[in-house]
Amino acid sequence: MDLGIKGKWALVCGASKGLGLGCARSLAREGVNVVIVARGAEVLQAAAESLRASGVQVIAVAADITTVAGREAVWSVAGGPGKNYDIVVTNAGGPPPGDFRDWDREAWIKAVDGNMLTPIELIKATVDGMAERGFGRIVNITSSAVKAPIDILGLSNGARSGLTGFVAGAARTTKLASRNVTINNLLPGAYDTDRLKTTMKGAAEKSGQSIDAVLESRKKTIPAMRFGQPDEFGDTCAFLCSQQAGYITGQNVLTDGGAYPGTY
Ligand code: NAP
Repeated sequence: MDLGIKGKWALVCGASKGLGLGCARSLAREGVNVVIVARGAEVLQAAAESLRASGVQVIAVAADITTVAGREAVWSVAGGPGKNYDIVVTNAGGPPPGDFRDWDREAWIKAVDGNMLTPIELIKATVDGMAERGFGRIVNITSSAVKAPIDILGLSNGARSGLTGFVAGAARTTKLASRNVTINNLLPGAYDTDRLKTTMKGAAEKSGQSIDAVLESRKKTIPAMRFGQPDEFGDTCAFLCSQQAGYITGQNVLTDGGAYPGTY
């Protein structure tokens, strides 16, 4: 299927590896020019180089997207579209796992900044231009933990639920929905990325098992009996960014190999 987005510009955050890179790869394959952001310049440059194989324009911005300065660096990068993006994929590293008794105000502010307020700032800066131009797609990478919270990921459960509530309202404003601007959340279950290994390290330490043992037993809790691959996540993201997905907005799209046990 031709997704009809060739030549558009996408901002993909947290895109030097993992799920963000999967999204950038799928969009680039569709002919979308991408601005990718991550803090570590070296890994980011390597990712940019691999994306250029698709023949699209790729601009790498080494910045912390959760800071004002990082976002300014994105808006002002040479050769980029300024704030005139057609597609924005919001993403940053998830907060660390732990016990809620150990988290102070600073830990909470960091989580809320990274996983709630940053996506809201990125949405705020770009959606009105999208509405004027009559096309826009925002995809927020959140987590299956929004639907099925995981005890050790309390910072993530809390901050992302705040974003989810915000999106539910913002996506449904007529000013955006009637102008072909959609805002959706894409909820990963367990995907084979560095983040998963970090999370499992926390679980291993808590249970006294090896990381490999924890990973194997985790797989068995997923009906698909495997972890997801970043590229299949990326393809779902690209579909949500397609012309065809213009009637899908305000949704929480779960992609988890059947792990979530509920009907709705
Ligand atoms: P990952 O493999 O660790 O990749 C994270 C990417 O984001 C890297 O490119 C990282 O590069 C970048 N990044 C992190 N913090 C950043 C910041 N402040 N500014 C700019 N870039 C930043 O993680 P992932 O598995 O792809 O996860 C992506 C998101 O999905 C996370 O929020 C995670 O919590 C969530 N999630 C993942 C899973 C899973 O199974 N993988 C499940 C549920 C939810 P730098 O470190 O160099 O900045």
